[in-house]
Amino acid sequence: MRIDFLDENELKARFIISDANIALINSLRRAMKNLVPSIAVDYVDFYLNTSYLYDENLAHRIGLIPIKTDLDKFNMPDKCVCEGEGCPNCQISFRLNIEGRRTVYSGDFTSDDPEIAPVYDNIPVIELYEGQQLMIEAVARLGTGKEHAKFQPVSVCGYRIVPEITIDAGRCTNCGDCIDSCARNVLEEQNEKVIVRDNMECTMCMECVKICHDRAISVEETGDFLFTVESVGTLPVRTIIKKGLEILKEKAEEMNSILEL
Ligand code: SF4
Ligand code: SF4
Ligand SMILES: [Zn+2]
Repeated sequence: MRIDFLDENELKARFIISDANIALINSLRRAMKNLVPSIAVDYVDFYLNTSYLYDENLAHRIGLIPIKTDLDKFNMPDKCVCEGEGCPNCQISFRLNIEGRRTVYSGDFTSDDPEIAPVYDNIPVIELYEGQQLMIEAVARLGTGKEHAKFQPVSVCGYRIVPEITIDAGRCTNCGDCIDSCARNVLEEQNEKVIVRDNMECTMCMECVKICHDRAISVEETGDFLFTVESVGTLPVRTIIKKGLEILKEKAEEMNSILEL
């Protein structure tokens, strides 16, 4: 398996994976989405809530705020010395005490650790009116997307088969029907010839192949996969990819040891 990055920044990466089968590729996608842990608010203690939203609605909103995650600082609750009871090694608290009239934002929470804070300060949580008050403590922990979508570190995590598009110059009459049939503008005309503009845009819908009466165009799988991964900001996208690969490796080793027994 080989990975070549096309473009990458802290939040988004596009890369091509070669020499791998589709089952492995899909397992990697699922590992990044559902098994790479990140921090999210797990429960909220309401000391005072005179806003117009019920505690449950507010707790749900707060749970969806992305929180910067440091995987070296926290244990998964079931692997912690406290055995899931909750301690500073597996939990962190965020406090808030605000009176209206004003909008409460994600940045209004005070974290026990300044490095573990909401990724964005400007996510609106609720609008408080005159005389309304919110006094809460939100407790966050590590979890995985397998438990709840709020723990997923990715907002986009998908792949596409990279196709090879071939135009047989001997058969092609340059009628242009394939260009018109392609909704992704993969094909274009250049010097009165049909050429492939960008095969990465191709979804392999096969419309161009169906419309070509001269059987001059073919679209085939190359065996490469184009991955697009976008982080919600809790972890750098490269950490998500590395962690996803590590988890897959651990699972494969576990399976091997079971089979050897
Ligand atoms: S539809 Fe077929 S013949 Fe017409 S331009 Fe496309 S490849 Fe050539
Ligand atoms: S297979 Fe579909 S997306 Fe790809 S070039 Fe043909 S018409 Fe366009
Ligand atoms: Zn603990």
